[in-house]
Amino acid sequence: MSKIFKKPKRRVERVFLHCSASDVPAHDNVATIRRWHKDRGFSDIGYHFFIHKNGKISKGRDIEKSPAAQKGNNKNTIAICLHGLLKEKFTKAQYKAVGKLCKEINNSYFKNISFHGHKEVSAKACPVFDYKKVLKLDKYGSLGLDSSIAVGVEIGENGFVELNYKDTGIEVEKLQKLLNIAIDGDYGKKTLKAVKAFKSIHNLYPSGIVTKQVWELLSRPVLENIRVFDENKLPNLRIGSRGKSVEFLQELLFIKVDGIFGANTGKAVKVFKSKNGYYPSDVVKDYIWKLLLQLNRVEHYD
Ligand SMILES: [Zn+2]
Repeated sequence: MSKIFKKPKRRVERVFLHCSASDVPAHDNVATIRRWHKDRGFSDIGYHFFIHKNGKISKGRDIEKSPAAQKGNNKNTIAICLHGLLKEKFTKAQYKAVGKLCKEINNSYFKNISFHGHKEVSAKACPVFDYKKVLKLDKYGSLGLDSSIAVGVEIGENGFVELNYKDTGIEVEKLQKLLNIAIDGDYGKKTLKAVKAFKSIHNLYPSGIVTKQVWELLSRPVLENIRVFDENKLPNLRIGSRGKSVEFLQELLFIKVDGIFGANTGKAVKVFKSKNGYYPSDVVKDYIWKLLLQLNRVEHYD
């Protein structure tokens, strides 16, 4: 089975598992569930993935959209549904499929994501099957680690290896990849400079130590492709600007990233400025950068 999960641009922090509440073979398809959900007034099927009894995984709702699946808990989540109602009628093929899908998701987020059953946030029995056992979840909902598919970073006490100047190896390669700099597995001066700049942007003391917090910041979905900037030197941008700083701006605004400050970016900037009480021009200056970075931090960690 090839990869089925593509990381969305929107922020994702939790994955919820559901069951379809039916063992009827005629209901074992996305079209039926989509019809049920549309009848309830949803715009589309509420789940992003649907796992058939035979283990096939079908895509449902656009992954870029929040699900409609866990009332009050849809934001920043992915929803997966297994076809089934009675516990003993879920199949091994389904368990294998959900395990593979969740591992793909887990690796895409550098393990900075947790997995839950619908019943954790509602009075329902959903998803009925013993998902904690199937996925080998710990009490926080972290996925059981499988070294054969885990991403390159080996696991310390908190799931991250602390790195420092002159370290070498696969963890350093991962770090360099996340920093978007040349990958050679060697924590030398260039990596040190990039780490310091990255920490500085995030208001951390700009030393070369890569702590758990730094790994988490690096692997946040919204800053997946973060470019290294000095927060005090973020340039003024306007219609016609181009380049990596524009890409960064677009990531922070959750709009399409193409590095070109055109009409769409201008519109998003105007909306953002207006929402935050500024005159809605399309010029981005230091105070707008600061606000964008600040909101980005607060939203994720409060
Ligand atoms: Zn459910």
